[in-house]
Amino acid sequence: MNFESLGLDPRILKALAEKGYSTPSPIQEQAIPVVLSGRDLMAAAQTGTGKTAGFTLPMLQNLLKGSSARNNQVRALVLTPTRELAQQVADNVALYSSHLPLKSAVVYGGVKINPQMQRLRGGVDVLVATPGRLLDLHNQNALKLNQIEILVLDEADRMLDMGFIHDLKRIMALLPPKRQTLLFSATFSAPIKELAARMVNDPAEVSV
Ligand code: AMP
Repeated sequence: MNFESLGLDPRILKALAEKGYSTPSPIQEQAIPVVLSGRDLMAAAQTGTGKTAGFTLPMLQNLLKGSSARNNQVRALVLTPTRELAQQVADNVALYSSHLPLKSAVVYGGVKINPQMQRLRGGVDVLVATPGRLLDLHNQNALKLNQIEILVLDEADRMLDMGFIHDLKRIMALLPPKRQTLLFSATFSAPIKELAARMVNDPAEVSV
């Protein structure tokens, strides 16, 4: 199995080659075709499995189909529990989209909000965010979430452990019902399944 046979765009393949990846990991083999097909996904995958590329690569490719973001609009939202993870995911997004006409940004709390507001002004195709800062920015009218095409929850179990359930519910209420949702979690405990039931629609399930 190689990345070509998963049907990825040549510009994404180029970025992968530059990074030195030749073979998709098991989670990538399973997740990429599902996400490219437009279906919702629930994936059980730990850190270290290559899950980040598993959602980022097909997410970027799906975004190539629509028109670019404008006016504070966000097209794809990736939520993470911590700023460290947000930064890591954003670095991955920047790397894999280096040959694509897509704009990305990362926002998290504990730093000044003004530069983040400025960055969002023209809209971004991909926003990686922690829940609290995302809501702060929304309250200040710095971004629009009503045209989200793709929502990713990364490390959903940690988000619940860290007490983000209320923030997540608030965010969900701002998103359009018609969207693609990808939920990644190390485990699928009862609380995660309950959260998933409100968020995903007829998902494919994969596990590594
Ligand atoms: P993640 O589970 O997404 O945090 O990824 C774990 C590590 O594996 C990261 O350092 C990635 O850069 C690396 N990685 C992800 N996909 C591949 C791949 N297909 N081939 C080699 N390394 C990879």
